[in-house]
Amino acid sequence: MWTFPKKSMRLPFSLAWVAMVGLSVVSCQPSPSPPNDSANNQTEIAPQGDRLDVTVTIPPQQYFVEKIGGDRLKVNVFVSGTNDPHTYEPKPQQLEALSQADAYILVGLGFENAWLDRLKSANPKMMLVDLAQGITPLSMTAHDHADHGHGEAEHTEEHGDHGHDKNHQATQNPETEEQVSVQDPHIWLSPTLVKQQAKAIATSLSQLDPPNANYYQGNLEKFLGEIDQLDQQIRQTLATVKPRKLIVFHPSWGYFAKDYDLEQIPIQVEGQEPSAQELGKLIDLAKNNGLKVIFTEPQFSPKNAEAIATEIQGRVETINPLAENWSENLSEVAKKISQQSN
Ligand code: ZN
Repeated sequence: MWTFPKKSMRLPFSLAWVAMVGLSVVSCQPSPSPPNDSANNQTEIAPQGDRLDVTVTIPPQQYFVEKIGGDRLKVNVFVSGTNDPHTYEPKPQQLEALSQADAYILVGLGFENAWLDRLKSANPKMMLVDLAQGITPLSMTAHDHADHGHGEAEHTEEHGDHGHDKNHQATQNPETEEQVSVQDPHIWLSPTLVKQQAKAIATSLSQLDPPNANYYQGNLEKFLGEIDQLDQQIRQTLATVKPRKLIVFHPSWGYFAKDYDLEQIPIQVEGQEPSAQELGKLIDLAKNNGLKVIFTEPQFSPKNAEAIATEIQGRVETINPLAENWSENLSEVAKKISQQSN
């Protein structure tokens, strides 16, 4: 108990001073404004102490945040590599590192629910930014992919004898074959929605660091321009795709599909595998539409996708919803979709 003050007494004065400067960063004190002309100079490296410490959930968010924050941020990614963010368990040292964070930027829509309380208690003072705010969520509905064409009324008829109501649908029940409906969190795969998210990021960074608000705003404008270009490019790539459907292993591409007038047909929904009967319908659908590709993701085993691909005498293509270079990746995904009938 007495060793602590003794140790700190031994700290050289300069180190103690560094520690105090560090403290001011932790408590989100904005640093003094840099000269105006340096605000547009992207190659300038901001001094370490000036940087905001921001944590994001997935790599594409790092791409967005760095586009807007440039060298004024230090960005940590919570779920990286081939980890599946839907089932991720935070490591103790990750939660510990959050005590230094100025902000945590959430995907939202329940994506981080499993560890949200732990984030909050790891650092009650950090700003929590929910990128899904203001976005109208799509729903992900399980076990309806094989007969996706039907309307809500028909749905009720079909599943009416299960005896469950609408409220019930919002809860997951992996032990039954019940209809499961949850909000689709994959909002980072729609360029249109990423424009909205980019604006939210710029607003939050400006709140944390008001002296650099113009810098963030300038970067935002540039990034919005880049997104428009990407969007145009994807539209061109996908212009002649027929049929406008894609079979995916995991349903990440709902918002992307909506942007580009495509229909996503998922094999797995909310972690659940289809029944043999549903699988049969899916295979028929692929055959009837001449679909030759099952799109899978690096976060999941390709085994099931390969089995279905064999059934339809097609192939498996990997597309990554979590790639670090978001823009390049979406171009690549569009290209693969445009070549699926080849
Ligand atoms: Zn997902």
